[in-house]
Amino acid sequence: MIVIMKQDASEQDVRHVVELVKDYGLKEHVIVGTNRTVIACLGDKRNVDKGAIETAAGVERLVPILAPYKIASREVKKENTQIKIGLNGFPVGGTKIGVVAGPCSVENEKQLMYTAEKVAAAGCIGLRAGAFKPRTSPYAFQGLGIEGLKLLAKAKKETGLAVVTEVVAVEHIDIVAEYVDVLQVGARNMQHYPLLEALGKVKKPVLLKRGMSAQLDEFLLAAEYIINAGNTQVILCERGIRTFEEYVRNTLALAIVPELKSKTHLPVVVDPSHGTGHSHLIPAMCRAAVAAGADGLLIECHPDPEHALSDGAQSITPEVLAQLMTQIKAIAKAIDRDA
Ligand code: PEP
Ligand code: MN
Repeated sequence: MIVIMKQDASEQDVRHVVELVKDYGLKEHVIVGTNRTVIACLGDKRNVDKGAIETAAGVERLVPILAPYKIASREVKKENTQIKIGLNGFPVGGTKIGVVAGPCSVENEKQLMYTAEKVAAAGCIGLRAGAFKPRTSPYAFQGLGIEGLKLLAKAKKETGLAVVTEVVAVEHIDIVAEYVDVLQVGARNMQHYPLLEALGKVKKPVLLKRGMSAQLDEFLLAAEYIINAGNTQVILCERGIRTFEEYVRNTLALAIVPELKSKTHLPVVVDPSHGTGHSHLIPAMCRAAVAAGADGLLIECHPDPEHALSDGAQSITPEVLAQLMTQIKAIAKAIDRDA
């Protein structure tokens, strides 16, 4: 249920409604919009005296939230949520398209610093690279761990880029949050609920990837876990789903972009690297994602894809990235956005 306050409701009116809602054992989530404040009330509503809330000072009306996800729903918040990342506070979810690129994994200092420079020069806002890698095979390269986090912090210092890296376990959250700007939850962990709840206690943005077999509602409910635990800074990332098709690693379901944008106020970005598995498909899918309304892109980029320790086949070179950025700018402009 949401309590929609009148446009001229005072702060005291809002505080009073919050107290009332708490008295009924509900949890409140106050969203201050540009025009008015709304209060999302979550929990068991059987004993709630709706009339008492409805007649409280400053209340316009009560509306049920129909979606299974509540705070993530557009029903609760009409305006797009903008999530500021990095030193410059780039607003993901604003009019500008934010591109984050970088290798699948941090491999060594030279590889990361060189890539970071190229990524910054191309006009990207962030650097991605995994330090803790969730690999399908236990024998594959598992990442440099804390050493990788330190290299990411160095790359940030040298380039000013926001850094994004994956967190695979609850016990790694503190150390990852200490070094990076955005904590990524990988597709394999989208339904790792203890991890999502623990990320709800973190004060940094979370990039939540769609599970490879997750439906839209399950994806948004995973986001709701993080938000409900206290962290509203969630960026959704479509990264392709598992289908019967074999010419791609995953099927990039771009129709989810406009659908998500209609169902939620959270920013939506697209990862065409995991979404296709093939570097030659990435530029076209990036262009399509931006045209479809994505707020940003997460692209794997490696200076020597052939020798990459992970996901070389789906990594574009810095040269391809630079060309792509020019095309993305043109597409953004065509849909009244910016890059
Ligand atoms: C990655 O971004 O390198 C990654 C492991 O992604 P996903 O969780 O989408 O497979
Ligand atoms: Mn990867």
